Amino acid sequence: MQQTKRILVTGGAGFLGSFLCERLLQEKQEVICVDNFFTGRKSNVSHLLENKSFEIVRHDITFPLYVEVDEIYNLACPASPVHYQFDPVQTTKTSVHGAINMLGLAKRVGAKILQASTSEVYGDPEIHPQQESYWGRVNPIGPRSCYDEGKRCAETLFFDYWRQHRLQIKVARIFNTYGPRMRPDDGRVISNFIVQALQNKPITVYGSGQQTRSFCYVDDLIDGLVRLMGTKDEVTGPINLGNPAEFTMLELANLVVELTGSRSAIKYLPLPADDPRQRQPDIGVASRELGWKPKVQLRAGLGKTIAYFEDLLSSGGSHAIA
Ligand code: NAD
Ligand code: UDP
Ligand code: UDP
Repeated sequence: MQQTKRILVTGGAGFLGSFLCERLLQEKQEVICVDNFFTGRKSNVSHLLENKSFEIVRHDITFPLYVEVDEIYNLACPASPVHYQFDPVQTTKTSVHGAINMLGLAKRVGAKILQASTSEVYGDPEIHPQQESYWGRVNPIGPRSCYDEGKRCAETLFFDYWRQHRLQIKVARIFNTYGPRMRPDDGRVISNFIVQALQNKPITVYGSGQQTRSFCYVDDLIDGLVRLMGTKDEVTGPINLGNPAEFTMLELANLVVELTGSRSAIKYLPLPADDPRQRQPDIGVASRELGWKPKVQLRAGLGKTIAYFEDLLSSGGSHAIA
């Protein structure tokens, strides 16, 4: 019989973290959710509070944390450009000091530790689709650097703790992921487009709308993370997790308008600095090492996400969820 593990999820009250906590509890594990509630919300996990195996701790991981756990999923870090650029110094600290603290914790208690890294480590890529062996093209001094370079440095720390201290590490490079529980004011493209379409407001396409992204539905992504944590010790990653189906932002806008039956028109706004022009994961490694591939197509995933935002907006809009 499998033994119950005690698992720490940092950023556990955020979008991805809350689904991960839910999934781990379904698997009868004990979960400690640590969050400073910068972008996360108690309401994302309030339905888990009655479960005796679940605990929430308000804590900022840039400060040391002493708990006794078997596994750590390190997800704490704002992920939307709007939020990570709000206090860029804190963003870098969260990735770098946060990683050091969580790695120090993992080292002291002998826990296995997974890092939620990102496709942003590839920057504005010259290689397409992106394979894990690609080193990336990242501006070290731009407005996105606090996130991109913070995450790159966190990967460095993970691999140094692995080489130097023989920690069991797992590094996932997550590509754009979406689903219910994203905030209406999250600022990322899927939530922006859906909220705008549902309110018949202009859909804000940045630049020409010809830049591409590849969108993964949250359930698929969580499944990938849990599989990665369960791999044998030799599998450290980095491993890309994402859905290879690639769309331009204009295609996405049109799809959202179609699925919501919206009267919204497209409004073009300037492209933000250093916005990557294309992004698509090569998931060959995930397929080989984890037996994983995403199952939910964009149309189906958008349908579920639209239903979530419809409910949210009809029950009082973004104020209702603050
Ligand atoms: P999110 O903003 O919803 O979640 C991040 C959580 O971390 C929030 O609950 C926030 O309050 C918490 N947090 C932030 N700083 C903290 C700190 N210093 N101490 C403790 N908690 C802190 O974002 P998300 O989309 O759920 O992303 C989760 C993780 O996955 C992030 O590390 C992000 O970089 C990574 N990721 C996400 C995507 C995506 O498309 N969703 C893509 C690539 C990587
Ligand atoms: N740390 C922590 N919890 C622990 C153990 C360590 O938060 O249970 C922090 C500690 O504050 C330290 C960091 O992790 O700053 C790195 O720890 P490590 O043991 O690797 O380095 P050292 O303490 O020798 O600087
Ligand atoms: N984007 C857009 N309109 C919006 C928000 C974003 O056209 O209202 C574009 C953005 O410029 C980028 C893409 O959509 O090219 C994805 O942006 P997001 O912030 O979701 O993720 P990231 O750029 O971090 O991949």
